[in-house]
Amino acid sequence: MGVGTQILPHSSEVVAFAHDLPSIRKPTSRRKLSLADAASRWPSERLISFPVEMTSRYLPLFSVLAVLLVLPARAQTLQNEDPVIAEMWQIGMEESRTRELAHVLMDQIGPRLAGSEGLEQAQQWLMETYADWGVDARKEEIGTWRRWRHGTLHVDMIEPRVSSLEAKLKAWSPGTNGPVRAEVVVPPVKTNAAADAEWMASTAGKFVMVSQPQEMCRAAQELEANASEATIEALGKRRRDEFNAYRNRVGALQAGDFDNAGAAGTLESRWSGGWGVNKVFSTSNKSAVALDISCEDYGLIYRLVEGGHRVVLEVNAQAQDLGEVPQFNVVGQITGSELPHEYVLLGAHLDSWHAATGATDNGTGTITMLEAVRILKMTYPNPRRTILVGHWANEEMGRVGSRAFRDDNPEIMDGIQAAFNQDNGTWRFEKIEGQGYADAASHIPKWMAMLPREFQDQITLEMPGPQANTGSDHTSFICAGVPSFRLQSPYDEYRQYTWHTNRDTYDKISFDDLARNATVAAMMAYQASEDPSRFGREQALLPVAANGRPRSWPNCRPAPRESGR
Ligand SMILES: [Zn+2]
Repeated sequence: MGVGTQILPHSSEVVAFAHDLPSIRKPTSRRKLSLADAASRWPSERLISFPVEMTSRYLPLFSVLAVLLVLPARAQTLQNEDPVIAEMWQIGMEESRTRELAHVLMDQIGPRLAGSEGLEQAQQWLMETYADWGVDARKEEIGTWRRWRHGTLHVDMIEPRVSSLEAKLKAWSPGTNGPVRAEVVVPPVKTNAAADAEWMASTAGKFVMVSQPQEMCRAAQELEANASEATIEALGKRRRDEFNAYRNRVGALQAGDFDNAGAAGTLESRWSGGWGVNKVFSTSNKSAVALDISCEDYGLIYRLVEGGHRVVLEVNAQAQDLGEVPQFNVVGQITGSELPHEYVLLGAHLDSWHAATGATDNGTGTITMLEAVRILKMTYPNPRRTILVGHWANEEMGRVGSRAFRDDNPEIMDGIQAAFNQDNGTWRFEKIEGQGYADAASHIPKWMAMLPREFQDQITLEMPGPQANTGSDHTSFICAGVPSFRLQSPYDEYRQYTWHTNRDTYDKISFDDLARNATVAAMMAYQASEDPSRFGREQALLPVAANGRPRSWPNCRPAPRESGR
């Protein structure tokens, strides 16, 4: 197959928590089928004796009958009579545990910022869940990160009228040590250095608006549907002009300027281009509280200040800096029965940003892989190769956990048959790229061909693929020559609405798709484990980039082992 050929497969440490969270309910089984039951239905020697190519030709009659017995009322289109695939469909699609698992992770544990108690609690929950399921799991220390404890936040406008405002504390922001009332100021248009210094000194005890305001907080789709082209164009021009104008106001400011000036706080608004949605990241402020204000409320404050009104806010933000604490990956393992030193690695980062509960980034990836391991343990408890699952810490800080795992486990890197990662939201997988491995075309389509037609129909394979992707944990392994792939969902509204935003919550999850994804991940892990041949590591020539130059394979950089904050 040529470069970039598209193949449609069917046609071809633990610290006590100070804040009181509700006790975490352990998931209970809805169906009384123990792992032992599942294993006894298809004894382990049968499970490991199905070479991929032979299942349909040599399957004994009793297995066909067994398949018929376990087929659900909603039939799937099996490509073969492999009883493991059939049982995976049953467990994954008909008896999915994704809702209850997601409820614990997102609703009960909540945000999982790097270094936070939430992340640590999520890791403990994974350890307990795997123990309940009889899956070996361990915490591997990867370094330290700064712990920030975020308590309650109240932001109210007091003058010129009273109104509570929608706001989030930026990560690692200092708190206010009780309620603080202060006037809001907008930076002046730049004139000269002396005037700038005079203005900066005047910000002592004030809240300063440091972001561009938005004239309109409607989603672009809304404009496209309702406004004239001329209106859209004119609004776009005004946005660009406003952006440049605001950059001129705040352009020379340095991190720490407002701390040094003694400002009460900084107000920002990083609108994400949709209804009610802001991206909320971290701040380097050391004494001035750093708030992100919703697009609507930020615009309101700005219009009032620019209109000559005295605007006073009262802010009460609780936050504590608790210093560097140890950080961990959670690694689960189902040990291989024939090739224990060869591995199939499932992965997804566990950490999130803090403004919501990290449902699609990356709660859904986490639940996909967790549920896939449950499916695997029940249906395929004695894999040919060892199956590992990596719940990476601190991806949002630069893929820290996966890079550390790579650097700390060279022997595992040598033995990886294939790695699959997910990190972009809730929708069903639509694509797998071969990431430029010459051997991808001779393995991945073969594995995909064993999946039910319903899954094949939704996923496009690009082999050996452009390796155009950066940005998540799969790349931590590609740079080391490890066959590592992304189970990719559509991006359509992910970046606009949920990625790193204040709206990335449980209600955004499509559970039908989550069940599908977990089942696909389990089936692909099964196929990669059973494949009689090893996945080669020869690197294909990568297609040229948009600038016309050939792409080169990425180099690995060591993981940062402390926050450096
Ligand atoms: Zn992510």
